[in-house]
Amino acid sequence: MANKKFKTEVADLLHLLIHSLYSNKEIFLRELISNASDALDKLKYLSLTEDSLKGYSFDPRIDISFTEEGERLLVIKDNGIGMNEEDLNNNLGTIASSGTKKFLANLTDDQKKDSNLIGQFGVGFYSAFMAAKKITVISRKAGEDAAYKWESMGESSYSIEAAEREEQGTTIILHLNEDSYEYANRWELETLVKKYSDHIAYPIYLEYDQVHYEDEKDEEGNPKKTKEHKIEKINSSSALWRRSKSSIKDEEYKEFYKNSYYDSEDPLFYLHTKAEGTTEYTTLFYIPAKAPMDMNYADYKPGVKLYVKRVYITDDDKTLLPPYLRFVRGIIDSEDLPLNVSREILQENRIMSTIRNSSVKKILSEFQKISDGNPDLYEKFIKEYNRPLKEGLYSDYMNRDALLELIRFKSSDRDGYVSLKMYKERMPEDQKSIYYIAGGREDVLKKSPLIEAYKKKGYEVLIMADDIDDIIISSVPTYSEIPLKAINKSGAIEEIKSADDKVKEEAKQGVKDKIKAALGDRVKDVIISSRLSDSPSAVVVDENDPTVQTQRLLKAMGAGDMPEVKPILEINPDSPIILKIESLKDDDKVRIYSEVLLDQALLQEGLMPQDPAQFAKNLSKLLSE
Ligand code: ADP
Repeated sequence: MANKKFKTEVADLLHLLIHSLYSNKEIFLRELISNASDALDKLKYLSLTEDSLKGYSFDPRIDISFTEEGERLLVIKDNGIGMNEEDLNNNLGTIASSGTKKFLANLTDDQKKDSNLIGQFGVGFYSAFMAAKKITVISRKAGEDAAYKWESMGESSYSIEAAEREEQGTTIILHLNEDSYEYANRWELETLVKKYSDHIAYPIYLEYDQVHYEDEKDEEGNPKKTKEHKIEKINSSSALWRRSKSSIKDEEYKEFYKNSYYDSEDPLFYLHTKAEGTTEYTTLFYIPAKAPMDMNYADYKPGVKLYVKRVYITDDDKTLLPPYLRFVRGIIDSEDLPLNVSREILQENRIMSTIRNSSVKKILSEFQKISDGNPDLYEKFIKEYNRPLKEGLYSDYMNRDALLELIRFKSSDRDGYVSLKMYKERMPEDQKSIYYIAGGREDVLKKSPLIEAYKKKGYEVLIMADDIDDIIISSVPTYSEIPLKAINKSGAIEEIKSADDKVKEEAKQGVKDKIKAALGDRVKDVIISSRLSDSPSAVVVDENDPTVQTQRLLKAMGAGDMPEVKPILEINPDSPIILKIESLKDDDKVRIYSEVLLDQALLQEGLMPQDPAQFAKNLSKLLSE
């Protein structure tokens, strides 16, 4: 017998599960049943596709039994794919997916108490140690003769030895701990299976002894008992999505979602469609109320499962839907794909791409329908998913127009979100462009001195505070033929200049040249504008350059050798500081004033001065005068 230590992360996980999720320990049953169902899926699939297992005939089922007296045992048995020695070591001795490790590392204490998060990340099996002081697993892999017994008390080690098992599959025997005797009970088990596992596609049987009381009495005068051994199917085992829409109640859709995706909240909404004609398939998609925890990880777990004629194929394919729709949960069930379709083929497969393209269209048009008809619901939706949708703007060119209607921005004018359409409808007649400011935190952007002049003219400015906004929006030159212009780029300045401003500009050429000479190559240019009513200066960049914020972001992300793009300093000709510089005679003084003018404009945008030490020095000099 081999005694082995768990990998450290398993030990950590066990500790976490047993201590944090104890109040919700009943979910262990759901986890074990869902593993059994996966094992049946796998064998069914292989028996249709793999030469060595082709024609393997088996009658997929899950059996639950228990002992009500003495040592309380709870046994969950399946005749699925099974595990050999290596599988037992790999699957029950380590946590394979790196996502799980990251997930564990990032959990806050509150989240650790939220049992709905487990399972999403494949930590399921170990939850059984909440109810069991010892677990025995006896398993035999399909197509192999040897069986193995894995056993552990859930502390730091487990053992594996040879065993016997009549057919392929896995038997999980829980030696229940004293606090968990309640699970060795027919009613309790029936209730839990109904609650969590009713829609498992395979029959789940419960074995129990029905007690009958006779008229006859025993020696103590009590009615005589006889026991009848019963085996009863306790789940409905139907593939919900294959039923007609009209026969499914809203409640059933929601229960199916919650049980399949381990979410305690109802989905925001769902859409169930059946396509007939040249390609036949059914889809059932759900939008979770809260964005999945791993939505912003590169190794997110995709939420859509592929079935072919009701046979489960994969839930691990990131190409079933485009990455920007990675928050969608659900099922695609095709009538036309071959069962042995491989991953590589899936991506290229014509039928699959038809299904994918029309699924995306349907999903997006459902979003649009909600945006038009149910603004409150749409706001909840956008709070969670605005960001991934924006990614679609540059990754899904085909649906860009639809996506442009769906995404939302913050605005200088009001709280909450605005669409480009609403913005356009509110535009005064003389406004020529859609103005926005991007690159930075929302609160900082909202206070940017550049916004003042637009506000004064009654023009709204879109606040683009998501880190990807600056990048995506530069790929959107126009919206229904109106150009989009960044107000921290030079192009937008011209549009709000009046004839008066131009006269003033002419008059101030002198001070402009003075400042430009003093700053030398620290700036690309110095320009005069009247849009800064309260601030002396601001930094902007040339129309086609990335903003200063974006340059710094790209640098931080490792885009090392980018040529540095110098800012343009915009100055307010009416500001007292500019008037002061105009009057200064001493070159060194002009330099100090000009440098401070540039640095404080950077600070106002939430950026560091170009040379912080020099800035401090300049400032003390001015203060001490
Ligand atoms: P997950 O099911 O999310 O991968 P688990 O910890 O529940 O995580 O299970 C780990 C692995 O053990 C599974 O991925 C599977 O390969 C294997 N496994 C668990 N239960 C069974 C079973 N009943 N039959 C076959 N394999 C199983």
